[in-house]
Amino acid sequence: MTALAPLLKQRIAQTGPVAISEYMQTCLLHPKHGYYTTQAVFGQQGDFVTAPEISQMFGELLGLCLAQTWQDQGRPDRFILLEMGPGRGTLMADILHATRNLEGFHTGAQLHLLEASPQLRALQKEKLYPFQPVWAEQIGDLADLPIFCIANEFFDALPIRQFQFETTGWHERLIGLKDGAFHIGVSSAPTHIPSLGYRVGEVQTGDIVEINTGAQAIAKQLGQHIEMQGGAALLIDYGDWETLGDTLQAVYQHDITEFLSAPGLADLSAHVDFAALVSNLACKHSRLTPQGVLLERLGITTRAQALAKRLKGTALDQHIAAHKRLTHPAEMGSLFKAIALYPSTTNAPTGFTE
Ligand code: SAH
Repeated sequence: MTALAPLLKQRIAQTGPVAISEYMQTCLLHPKHGYYTTQAVFGQQGDFVTAPEISQMFGELLGLCLAQTWQDQGRPDRFILLEMGPGRGTLMADILHATRNLEGFHTGAQLHLLEASPQLRALQKEKLYPFQPVWAEQIGDLADLPIFCIANEFFDALPIRQFQFETTGWHERLIGLKDGAFHIGVSSAPTHIPSLGYRVGEVQTGDIVEINTGAQAIAKQLGQHIEMQGGAALLIDYGDWETLGDTLQAVYQHDITEFLSAPGLADLSAHVDFAALVSNLACKHSRLTPQGVLLERLGITTRAQALAKRLKGTALDQHIAAHKRLTHPAEMGSLFKAIALYPSTTNAPTGFTE
């Protein structure tokens, strides 16, 4: 039994079944017992290893992609460099390292981070303090400057709601209690969800569709900012162009576990529906590109060979394995996808296609 389980059960007993989004939000970000607020979540010790923790090459190549886009847009002398969901700060540290010799980039950058967990903010502060990061509460608070943004595995951590399609309409899947245990059921009354109207023609009775209202709101604000002020956003995540069915996943100590089994101890995520994420944005978006393809286009093989020259023994083996892990279709290469947002007056950032 985890510390959060009795608290969640008490809430459900008092006020009735809760939306999946409420359960997810509590499990991930509860101030005392939430996953991101308590665990040593990433890295070899944590439950899952993210791309920047696998190899420096990930951040270096994406940093150069962002910097190239900054050059293509006329090297604005003041701009916001933003990361959303920076985790341990490794990705941003690699981006800043890779761009250190590019004249005007560091001096023009105002580093901003969007991070909900105070514990992770502290880690980020430790790692990035020479660059004087500022933590933003929301995109709307950012100054009117071009924004160059990166987010890796950010949107898949935001809470989703699930709706089941029935002849009577969309019924929300809710978490209640059955014999004292958590149990997912379906609300008896349908919910009117206008944003799911476009899916009615393609789903069958019993199909589950997920929505991530928080992710869409952030993408919308980001798109507006990019269109008005310039810049670009590179968004990399676990997901697909339109998702269908239940994609919720719980990972505990490197293994997939039952979704409701360890509230607060397991990492919870859902696949990102990129079509929904980029629908109706004010700016343009690129095609959805598999991570492996993007990294190849950005030159990972050449970079991997250059780094390999300095390595031998176990370090070399690990480096070769890391390259494969990031790019191979059977590993992270096609499960993870990337999309770029950019102003409608410019071309897609290097590595992306329109
Ligand atoms: N980008 C990092 C970490 C990904 S994990 C990497 O690639 O290693 C998800 C990150 O998003 C964590 O830093 C988590 O605390 C943060 N996060 C989750 N929900 C958030 C929210 N609602 N607002 C801001 N940050 C959030």
